Amino acid sequence: MLYGLMNSREFRFGSALSFSFEIKHAHSNSLARVGTINTPHGQIQTPAFIPVGTKATVKSVLPESMKDLGSQALLSNAYHLYLQPGPEILDEAGGLAKFMNWDGPTFTDSGGFQVLSLGVGFKKVLAMDAQTTRHDDVIAGNKDRLAHVDDEGVTFKSHLDGSMHRFTPEVSMQVQHQIGADIMFAFDECTTLHNTRPYQELAMDRTYAWAIRCLDEHKRLTEERVGKPYQALFGVIQGAQYEDLRKKAATELGSLESDGQSFDGFGIGGALDKGQLGTIVSWVNEILPEDKPRHLLGIGAPEDLFVGVENGCDTFDCVLASRIARTSAVYTMEGRFNLSNSRFKRDFTPIDSECDCYTCTHYTRAYMHHVFRGKEIIAATLATIHNERFIVRLVDQMRQALVDGNFGDLKEQFLGRYLHRSGQARD
Ligand SMILES: [Zn+2]
Repeated sequence: MLYGLMNSREFRFGSALSFSFEIKHAHSNSLARVGTINTPHGQIQTPAFIPVGTKATVKSVLPESMKDLGSQALLSNAYHLYLQPGPEILDEAGGLAKFMNWDGPTFTDSGGFQVLSLGVGFKKVLAMDAQTTRHDDVIAGNKDRLAHVDDEGVTFKSHLDGSMHRFTPEVSMQVQHQIGADIMFAFDECTTLHNTRPYQELAMDRTYAWAIRCLDEHKRLTEERVGKPYQALFGVIQGAQYEDLRKKAATELGSLESDGQSFDGFGIGGALDKGQLGTIVSWVNEILPEDKPRHLLGIGAPEDLFVGVENGCDTFDCVLASRIARTSAVYTMEGRFNLSNSRFKRDFTPIDSECDCYTCTHYTRAYMHHVFRGKEIIAATLATIHNERFIVRLVDQMRQALVDGNFGDLKEQFLGRYLHRSGQARD
């Protein structure tokens, strides 16, 4: 597929430049591209990995450290911030970035994934591999459900105190406007790979109807909250593993316009079978408008990031890098391994000798082993800095490789080492 060399969209409200996306380098033989997202809080050079600070903090790490390790933006969760401290607190504070002392762009998800994860009682974050999970492993019984979906929205029980709440497309937009991130996502119904085909169709129709309501409420709030920095709204493409549903969603949401308002970009969400990730993403990205950014929601494993980038995704987020760090698991060029393993007790080399992060340039595996075994708080901090740097840098390297025309070489070399060694070193 051949793309034009330069595409740019700018969205202006009043006279202030608010949001734009510029493709700087497009490949003639793949969907991959290099670009820049401009937001009121700064630029994001894409492809880029966006670390997750669920509750307005990347657990155990200072914002300055996230900046130092190359993070260009952070993503927080509307559901969690809605429950605590409440979106009105973030609004009064001057928005998410200012509230958490983050000098850069921010994203929030819509809350849909979290409330619906509770709703079906996922025992895993998402079933990524349909081959190894059975229906009963993934979806809790009806009595265990904490949320119920209807055509208007989702009623759910707080995981914090059991109180009842209701999210509708309008509520999600109001909450996300108050939180004040630069990039927000439309409220969607997130299904699993184990829902039936008729249910996937029903959920997609609902997501489409909600998309229109999100655009309308977003427009109303943007006009009402005059003087605030423009917040971009991304539509979310669902459709599970079905080609016709994914393409239908991309076609309908890609061209959707309500009262002159269209989506500023798109998220690709929902159930994504790992083995089919590239296929599903390419179905969608071949259809979505090429001049708007595309975010692959919740994907962050190294091998999946290569697939996402080569199939035309611009940004990614995932909690995995920091979550596994807190359990002493680290990414390295030699694959993923666990620092608590006794083989590191006298290993006075860095976690990864090729890594340039603060942790690897100042500490050894033996020290990391010691602080993890001793349950010292610094263990989480140092391991998170390393893992986030590893993933941020890997996607930065992919971006450079696209510019240099050697993305295929980078992928082959990296995965050849990483996956081979992972198989040997995993404990
Ligand atoms: Zn490191």
